[in-house]
Amino acid sequence: MADIQTIKNSPKLKRPEFLDPEKKTSAARMADRVLLLGLGVAFAYWIFASLIFALTATSGTFVHNYFNPGLNEVLSRLLVFCFFMIFGSHVGYTMRQRQKADEALAGSEEKYRTIIENMEDGYFEIDFRGRFTFFNDSFRKISGYGAEQLRQLDYRRLLTPAETQKVLAAFGKVNRTGTNIKDLGFVIVRKDGARRWVETSVSPITGRHDRLVGYRGLLRDVTRRRQADALQQEKMAAEAASRSKSEFLANMSHEIRTPLNAIIGLVELLLESPLSREQREDLKVVQSAAFALLSVINDILDFSKIEAGKLELERSPFNLRDFLGEALKILAVKAHEKNLELAYRVAPDVPDRLVGDHHRFRQVLLNLIGNALKFTDSGEIVVFAQCRTVDADHLLLHVAVRDTGVGIATGKQALIFEAFRQADGSTTRKFGGTGLGLAVSAQLVNLMGGQIGVKSVLGKGSIFHFTIAFDVDAKSADGPELPDDMDLSGRRILVVDDNATNLKILCEMLASWKMVPKPASSAAAGMALLKKMGNSGAVFDLALIDSDLSDSGALSLARQIHGRGGDTTRVVMMLTTTTAKETAFYNETGVGALVTKPVRPSDLLDAIIKALSVAQAPAEKRVDNNGSGHDFSLPPLDILVAEDTPFNQKYIRRLLDTWHCRATIVENGRLAIDALDGQHFDLVLMDVQMPEMDGLTATARIRDLEKKRDRHIPIIAMTAHAMRGDRERCIDAGMDDYVSKPISSIALLEAIRRVVPMPDRKPESVDADPSTSAGDDDGELSAILEAFNNDGAFFKDVADMFISDYPPMVETVKKAIADRDGALLSRTAHALKGMARNFQIDGAADAALQLEQLADQKQFGMAGIQFRTLADELAGFERRLKQMVARVSED
Ligand code: ADP
Repeated sequence: MADIQTIKNSPKLKRPEFLDPEKKTSAARMADRVLLLGLGVAFAYWIFASLIFALTATSGTFVHNYFNPGLNEVLSRLLVFCFFMIFGSHVGYTMRQRQKADEALAGSEEKYRTIIENMEDGYFEIDFRGRFTFFNDSFRKISGYGAEQLRQLDYRRLLTPAETQKVLAAFGKVNRTGTNIKDLGFVIVRKDGARRWVETSVSPITGRHDRLVGYRGLLRDVTRRRQADALQQEKMAAEAASRSKSEFLANMSHEIRTPLNAIIGLVELLLESPLSREQREDLKVVQSAAFALLSVINDILDFSKIEAGKLELERSPFNLRDFLGEALKILAVKAHEKNLELAYRVAPDVPDRLVGDHHRFRQVLLNLIGNALKFTDSGEIVVFAQCRTVDADHLLLHVAVRDTGVGIATGKQALIFEAFRQADGSTTRKFGGTGLGLAVSAQLVNLMGGQIGVKSVLGKGSIFHFTIAFDVDAKSADGPELPDDMDLSGRRILVVDDNATNLKILCEMLASWKMVPKPASSAAAGMALLKKMGNSGAVFDLALIDSDLSDSGALSLARQIHGRGGDTTRVVMMLTTTTAKETAFYNETGVGALVTKPVRPSDLLDAIIKALSVAQAPAEKRVDNNGSGHDFSLPPLDILVAEDTPFNQKYIRRLLDTWHCRATIVENGRLAIDALDGQHFDLVLMDVQMPEMDGLTATARIRDLEKKRDRHIPIIAMTAHAMRGDRERCIDAGMDDYVSKPISSIALLEAIRRVVPMPDRKPESVDADPSTSAGDDDGELSAILEAFNNDGAFFKDVADMFISDYPPMVETVKKAIADRDGALLSRTAHALKGMARNFQIDGAADAALQLEQLADQKQFGMAGIQFRTLADELAGFERRLKQMVARVSED
């Protein structure tokens, strides 16, 4: 409500007299008084005239004259009386009219005053001296001054010098033109020094003879609106900056990752070729420098993406224990090189199948373990995972990475989670790094609904711990389960490991499958336990031995177990790496199975089952064809590669050569379309960014053209763009799959296998006219006969066996895949592989080998694809074999 006090005190606001109820009554009475006065005067005149008449008249008395005046006297006295009557009535009438007019004016002034006082906008009037002659309460509030202070104040005190000029110019304009000014914006300085944005309108106040006597105006506080506008503008500017930053980053990442791709790829290939020791070492330095550079670029990219709010989390189900095992295996070699023990333990109550962004989880985990490896010279790094809170559908997973490294001073522990901060920021520091890893990890963990922290003692080690919220997959089980028909309970297992943490973790795993573990911390202790057991007439079912025992006794322990004649103890050896050489070596030593460290529960279980089943049916020990655990074989595909960068062209050509695929390379999308027009290809590898026509446009054209021809060629995008939405753009353009650069050979291989399920190449030769393929068949026949010592009868017998035996085995493979029965699939594929090798059907043997491996990895989807290759190869061979048998019979 308006402050009435202000109004009363302001000079213009003295209440007019006619607004006073008492004064209003006397004014009304005035008219009556004038009337009464007229009557009084008329009466007095009457008396006065009678008196004069009595004194001057010769006859008659005052009383006689008073009551009986003559006609003249009566008329004159009536005249006076009427005059006063009329005068009184006139005065009364005029007074009443004036009173009515005053009341109307008072009413309108009251209205005006109420409006002004209730207005949110400030109202002011100033005179020529710059003094406020009138203002409302809102104006007072905007200015921050009291009413009395304002009345004393020169308006210029509310303005800065620059704003004074602006306002003076506006007044000058009003003065000159006599017109109003609207929406004049300026800043006022309140009494407390705060600045407010205001907008005002100014109009002239005129006095007598239309002379200008001052200015009046309305003043509105628009600070909030201005701030909101400024904020909006800042936001728009920030968004524009962030957009250009993201674009810049995308381009930068493309530009840097493209040559890096070539460097990493070519170094990988070079390392597989014969090299001198020095060359190999130099190349390894180049390789690790390239990887370091790549990880810096990735960190910067991630950091900027998170900063710009552009990082989107993915959601997919994963098996926690397998996931942790795989993630740790990436760093196992590095740990081994530094002679550090790397292990992990998942609390038994943690559900195994979780749903969340496991890529980002891995990124955080690898960063913490990578740091632990970097800052630890001796001892161990152990990862512990347990539930913080859990219900049927959700879980807060708590992960701790404990190392026995240099530790971090208490004062630095909070700083290291900030970007570009390191505990040792000196130029002489021993360890490299950008100081971004923990900042990225902290942000990722926050995004995933968790927190990160550290506990550390300088010189003793650190524990980095974080939480992440995951959903629990409905089909979740706690850890790997034993097959239904497998009962391992009560099996006695000797566990030999010199690392106490590992020993504990292994024993816990074995106990969870109801086995009876006996821990030994050295080979000698293991031997002693074996002897003790032997003396009591019992044996261990299995010995689980760490190959890196510090007393170097792992191998001799294994040999002694193997050499103990009647002893049926099987050995499972735990290795850090399984190179082809090592695998072969251990196989020869009689080791039942191998498992790589850090030991995944599922791997250990598989190895134990495998080693124990050796007792019943000795199985052939498998060695990967390249020792890396990956099979790089592909059918000889014809692949069109659209790629403009020469070193990428070279890298891809070399890669495809090693897979025995034929590469046709073109430099842009237009040439790719031309090439597809004239030639058959099984697959296109399409770079996205190319001159003349980019990969997305080219793919869209190819898909358009295909509609007319009713065929579909698989296209895999290769792009160095690492930004969000790239995959979607590629798939939207019609591509079938996507690999990001730098291209990992495994990723590319898997993408090829995904999109080219069954390159149908053999049937051409099978269905072809036998006469045209006779030459080939002759070659094949003579090679096979040679393997059968050129014994035609022997060959025919075995061929007949093959023709009758293989179809049911193929059916068994098909069923095993459908039933997801890994053991049956592995066994049958293994047997088929042996048969195929006898007849030198390499394609079928390779497919069977892959099936065997896929069975071990429980990848039944991929196995389905391989199965088709195997079945076709065998069917094709059966037709050729029948012809060969016929030919041998003729001979
Ligand atoms: P970078 O390792 O690239 O410098 P990070 O953000 O990953 O960046 O780590 C920041 C700093 O935190 C490191 O420079 C180091 O000083 C400290 N730090 C991180 N992990 C450990 C650890 N496990 N032990 C000791 N210090 C660590």
